[in-house]
Amino acid sequence: MSGSLVVVGLGPGNPDQMTQEALAAVTAAEDFFGYFPYIDRLNLRPDQRRHASDNREELARARAALETAAGGGKVCVVSGGDPGVFAMAAAVCEAIDVGPAEWRDIDFSVVPGVTAMLAVAARAGAPLGHDFCAISLSNNLKPWKVIEKRLVAAATAGFVMAFYNPVSKARPHQLGDAFALLRRHLPGEVPVIFGRAAGRPDEAIRIVPLEAAESGMADMATCVIVGTAETRIVERQGKRPIVYSPRYFKDGFGGAGA
Ligand code: SAH
Repeated sequence: MSGSLVVVGLGPGNPDQMTQEALAAVTAAEDFFGYFPYIDRLNLRPDQRRHASDNREELARARAALETAAGGGKVCVVSGGDPGVFAMAAAVCEAIDVGPAEWRDIDFSVVPGVTAMLAVAARAGAPLGHDFCAISLSNNLKPWKVIEKRLVAAATAGFVMAFYNPVSKARPHQLGDAFALLRRHLPGEVPVIFGRAAGRPDEAIRIVPLEAAESGMADMATCVIVGTAETRIVERQGKRPIVYSPRYFKDGFGGAGA
């Protein structure tokens, strides 16, 4: 008899930013699959089984979780933030797509979570207040050329951009290359927000103009938001400035390349 598999978003790190629906799904499940720091965040009961794994093994983890569910288990796959944003939900869907027919009988669901860009944006004001997009800068699963094409397209079309996976040890130069490319298409004053470990005790938010943005300002726990020519900074005495993208669109386009 087939069991169930729920992919749950745990939010960016602050337990208060986990939804009631996610908490209920965790309480109801018996077998937990995920990257070990995410499983460690949960206060699992002794009767709940942990199948923690390394971060890179997403497809293998998805298959193992589906096997357990196909055998009748009540399975929970966990992701940080939202599971549909550069995370496990797509890996599970991919495994079902190409996997054995019986995996389609599994009771499959996804519980959304607060994704990193929303947690970072909330700290800064409302930088995503107008049209925006999210781009993973990791070229593990797509060529860097494609990333460059998307960066230019998004910048010249006037989208605010949220970068996930901005740097890693294997990719120390790409964020710097991305900023250099964007400086050719956007004004130097465009605000860039570096939101590190949003919602966690070591959270750090830094706002700099694009002309001063450097890759060393980000690490793997940082979500970078790049504004448009319309994005505004409201300075405040003794307080972090507010960054927002106005809801209305004036004449003209956001990018110098448009
Ligand atoms: N599913 C996750 C994203 C996974 S990709 C989500 O929805 O948030 C991993 C990337 O997410 C990191 O490299 C970083 O860019 C971003 N990220 C995850 N948690 C974060 C946090 N608490 N603060 C800032 N960025 C975070």
